[in-house]
Amino acid sequence: MDLVTLTIDGQKVTGPKGKSVLEAALDAGIYIPNLCHDPDLKPFGACRLCVVEIEGMRGLPASCTVTATDGLTVRTDGPKVHQVQKVAVELLLADHPMECLTCAASGNCGLLRVASHVGIDHIRLKKTQRDYPIDDSNPFFYRDLAKCVLCARCVRACQEVVGVGAIDFAHRGYQRKVATFGDRPLAESRCESCGECVVRCPVGALVPKRRAKPSREVKTVCAYCGVGCGMYLGVRGNTVVSVRGDRQSPVNHGLLCVKGRFGNDFINHPDRLTTPLVRKDGELRPATWDEALDVVASRLKEYPGDASAAIASAKAPNEDNYVIQKFARAVMGTNNVDHCARL
Ligand code: SF4
Ligand code: SF4
Ligand code: SF4
Repeated sequence: MDLVTLTIDGQKVTGPKGKSVLEAALDAGIYIPNLCHDPDLKPFGACRLCVVEIEGMRGLPASCTVTATDGLTVRTDGPKVHQVQKVAVELLLADHPMECLTCAASGNCGLLRVASHVGIDHIRLKKTQRDYPIDDSNPFFYRDLAKCVLCARCVRACQEVVGVGAIDFAHRGYQRKVATFGDRPLAESRCESCGECVVRCPVGALVPKRRAKPSREVKTVCAYCGVGCGMYLGVRGNTVVSVRGDRQSPVNHGLLCVKGRFGNDFINHPDRLTTPLVRKDGELRPATWDEALDVVASRLKEYPGDASAAIASAKAPNEDNYVIQKFARAVMGTNNVDHCARL
């Protein structure tokens, strides 16, 4: 791997070639305030919070848009930098609802983190408030644009990562906002409810409807389809309350689709089958697997050849699906084999 070495706040920092100054600093444990940066997205330079001084460069470049190269000398904490960051944060806070105690992003809010880092102790500007209704049309998450800081992480994630492009910026100036085509509710847009925008929103503008925070996490693999995305289930007691993608998984690098991210209510659902049911005297009653398989085997004999069909599962491994089609063709005598590619 090609490496570059630069100096940040007097400290020699070595990192892989091609990264930005901001990423080189963050990787080295040097925090530079930022809101629009996301390691999965192209640099955007919208929030102007990651400005730095770089020897030989005019002005205060946004460190997310400057490639880290050998010999750069960067200063992150000069008075000019601090002044720009302070004004940028004050402008955001002046227009932000003060609902921190009840906000779903509380404890994990990017805006509070930058405000605290910059050292804001009061807001000098006149308080304003955008009056947007909360969009709760999506079954899995809320969209509260009054809290939006216009970082564009949701827009870029939807375009660059998911490839859907359900949202984009609309209008200009103070009216600028994230909108669907025609400014319709999310449920009436092209949105696929994958939640990739939700996990990237640095504030409480996009938040899951399920609010409970987990007390521990369990590393696992999504049970829905053969892609096998890595994930962490957030658990509270014995109840699954959250899901997050495993960024270390070589399969999905942290990304999840709507099923993996939001389709896990079945795990703790009271109607979930935990034992086979066999109909006796017109009623479904719990049975052992041996009893259930005996019933299936005896009934299959009543439907020879193409009178029957086998439906496999995308949740099962390839080997199990192979065995099912082999069983259908060789034992049941039918080529009627299908599987639920999409659940
Ligand atoms: S949930 Fe997914 S598809 Fe919908 S807007 Fe967000 S990123 Fe786009
Ligand atoms: S909704 Fe969230 S992610 Fe999207 S632009 Fe606003 S603050 Fe950024
Ligand atoms: S259902 Fe979605 S999250 Fe689960 S393994 Fe398949 S693609 Fe990944």
